[in-house]
Amino acid sequence: MSKTILQARDVTKRFGGLVAVNGVSFDVTEHQVMGIIGPNGSGKSTMINMISGSFAPSAGSIQLNGRELAGQPAHKVARLGVGRTFQLVRLLPELSVTQNVLAGAAFGHRRRWGPEAERFAHTLLDRLGLAQVAALPVSALTYIDTKRVELARALAGEPEVLLLDEWLAGLNPTELSTGIDLIKSLRDEGRTIILVEHVMDAIRSLCDRCVVMSSGTKIAEGTPAEVLSDREVIRAYLGD
Ligand code: ADP
Ligand code: MG
Repeated sequence: MSKTILQARDVTKRFGGLVAVNGVSFDVTEHQVMGIIGPNGSGKSTMINMISGSFAPSAGSIQLNGRELAGQPAHKVARLGVGRTFQLVRLLPELSVTQNVLAGAAFGHRRRWGPEAERFAHTLLDRLGLAQVAALPVSALTYIDTKRVELARALAGEPEVLLLDEWLAGLNPTELSTGIDLIKSLRDEGRTIILVEHVMDAIRSLCDRCVVMSSGTKIAEGTPAEVLSDREVIRAYLGD
């Protein structure tokens, strides 16, 4: 049976006079990948920031398994089960890769400490191809590896819902196909993911459903095939 795990209702965010997100509603089904797509500035990151508790919505409700997230601070939302990566990577650059991942384990949904956390972190680092750089400071890593660390840190908290804000952006074609396979493997093990993405191949191959935003408003929702053939969506993208 498919169950709604996250429910956004009439969510609005105003920054002064600007309405960045305007009355957006959608449901995310457990074990599915929900895409949020739309042109630059359409409110996708703002939506992610409200789900993760970085911003409080100006109005509306966001529930995880029936518990209200709107207005809760980010650390509490993480505890309740939302993990995320950032569009612009945010790690502790002087600390090692392992220490960054351990921080994710300590502050996430299922908190782990000590040897158990270390074991779990090492499993994740292996899986994400970071074992060789585990002891290096994050500041010494390549861009793709910092992205991998962000994902490892988010996964270390074992979130019930994982938010990926343009995690694939800036990767070269080889890294991109590895990245898509990695997200596929997360989906195949039954994780629930909200994916903000510009890469159309990724949207087509990863998303069960998509919400399309334009100027803060939801203009379409459906399978990738449905929304990408929608006239209003095409117009929003082409700026016609
Ligand atoms: P997207 O992720 O779809 O590119 P954003 O959610 O980042 O779009 O931005 C939506 C709108 O909200 C933009 O006009 C942006 O300038 C504005 N915005 C985003 N964050 C802030 C903020 N912290 N303060 C003021 N305006 C913001
Ligand atoms: Mg964004």
